[in-house]
Amino acid sequence: MSKPRVIYWFRTDLRLHDSPALKAALDLEPECLYPIWTWDPHYVYRARVGPNRWQYLLDCQNDLSQSITRLNSKSKLLLIREAPQTLFPKLFKAWNVTHLVFEKDTDAYARERDEQVVALAKKAGVEVIVKTGRTLYDPDELVKHNHGKPTMSISQVQAAGKKIGEIARPIPAPKELPDPGNTDLHFEQEKPSNEPDINAIQRDGNEASYLSLAGPNGDFAVPTIEELGLKEVTTPHRGGETIALKMLDDIIADETYTATFEKPKTAPTAFEPQATTLLSPHMHFGSLSCREFYWRVQDVVSDFKGTASQPPTSLTGQLLFRDMYFGAQAALGYSFGQTYNNPQCRFIPWHLPSKIDTESGLITGDYLVDNAEADVYFKRWKHGRTGFPWIDGLMRQLKDEGWIHHLGRHAVACFLTRGGCYVDWERGAEVFEEWLIDHEAACNIGNWQWLSCTAFFAQFYRCYSPIAFPQKWDKEGNFIRKYVPELKNFDKKYIYEPWKAPIADQKKWGCRIQGEGSETSDVTLYPKPMFDFSTRREICIQGMKNAYHIGLYGNDPKVLNGTWREL
Ligand code: FAD
Repeated sequence: MSKPRVIYWFRTDLRLHDSPALKAALDLEPECLYPIWTWDPHYVYRARVGPNRWQYLLDCQNDLSQSITRLNSKSKLLLIREAPQTLFPKLFKAWNVTHLVFEKDTDAYARERDEQVVALAKKAGVEVIVKTGRTLYDPDELVKHNHGKPTMSISQVQAAGKKIGEIARPIPAPKELPDPGNTDLHFEQEKPSNEPDINAIQRDGNEASYLSLAGPNGDFAVPTIEELGLKEVTTPHRGGETIALKMLDDIIADETYTATFEKPKTAPTAFEPQATTLLSPHMHFGSLSCREFYWRVQDVVSDFKGTASQPPTSLTGQLLFRDMYFGAQAALGYSFGQTYNNPQCRFIPWHLPSKIDTESGLITGDYLVDNAEADVYFKRWKHGRTGFPWIDGLMRQLKDEGWIHHLGRHAVACFLTRGGCYVDWERGAEVFEEWLIDHEAACNIGNWQWLSCTAFFAQFYRCYSPIAFPQKWDKEGNFIRKYVPELKNFDKKYIYEPWKAPIADQKKWGCRIQGEGSETSDVTLYPKPMFDFSTRREICIQGMKNAYHIGLYGNDPKVLNGTWREL
């Protein structure tokens, strides 16, 4: 009997170590193994992906390709520029494929796509093997063992996890790989018909270009940023399994850091080096396996002589949070990503009146912010021009580098929603989606819901001050001096409230604090704060109390009777 001819489809797993799906492909002892990445148009133009994340992806692909070649000089990652739904039927035929193997993906869009591909494979007589490897637990199993419900707390994840069984130990990387088969593509790319062509890569308006399947040189090479038409890559962070494993080694070598890590004690103002691991983009692209991460940490914790930290604040606790969001998403599908039609997400009438008669439910007050004002707040938040240096520094770090510390994400998300601007969390999540190099739909959406107190967490009276909170971590204001360089010479007394500095000092330190839109000047300008924070904070709290009180989705007295607490 002839041996299997296998396509291994890389997607969320750009690595060779600890890949249950890759192991399953190799266990078939195939005659040939085609390691491919298909150009998913969803990624190209339906999702928001900024140039920094693109670069990270290309880094991962290049590194993976080189690693494949190291194990078999005839092989490499084959980049094929066509949507999987139209590509696979042609590949199955042209390459005489018997098996298709890939890692399970429970993102809402991915499920849809994979169902289509599995149906196409079935039609072509190709056997499909799918294995979980992206999360500690299979998100569908988590949901099943959480009584069929989305996982909304760590204790639910832990309880469901106990029923599933111990997290599997990582699988070593293969030592060799089979040859790829003949990669001739005995088919022409079909020209667009009257049907919309989902492979058209659209950029800059309506211009559409049709790339040849195997790339401009016909060699299946990983594209360059230039080929993609993207220019401004500004992140200093680089992707790839080799870098990921080296970063993990360095973390694990510091046993005390690894075993005693407590997330709330890590400084959001730290940079070069940052206070947490910065492994999240590697987790997103699968260039690091979560089980490798989990067990390397757990082994250090087990051997640690002192008192180790525990979930949820410990490092393994962070990975459980990740699984929690995947479990929530797996249960809710597309509706997880929005307020509409999402049974877990509390409706907050963002931008609506602050005064509502709680007896009658009638609107009696003025508008909290009208839509035009909300839009100005949103744009100034997005572009780091709020006049609050802590918020502006974080948003600029996000845009330039694609990563910010978790508590920094807390600060800007709280500020945009219930702790300042009172703007819908979905608008903030879209900005993160575009700019984060670690953007993970489940984690991004879930954390935005948490911070806006629309799901997961309801203590809206606990709110981040853009002044007192960063001051606790960084009295000198070094973070501000790096990311808001206009203020680099300001005395530390004014670094978080530069508008309070005397005009003479502002001149001396080379930056004037002025209203946005003030006439241009030959000195550097930094905006005045766009509102009085204490006043806004009260308005937001009132708005949230009203929203909870109207009780559209419940009415929790614990929440309503809370007292104001600044973070
Ligand atoms: P570490 O503290 O070193 O944690 C180790 C790993 O645990 C991380 O790499 C990550 O995979 C996971 N992890 C840690 N915290 C969380 C968390 N709260 N939720 C889920 N996973 C976690 N994380 C993403 O991976 N992608 C996102 O798109 C994303 N969007 C976010 C949006 C908002 C508004 C907020 C508040 C948080 C978001 N997070 C997101 C979660 C968290 O901020 C990042 O995972 C973390 O800051 C990454 O840095 P690190 O690798 O140094 O984390």
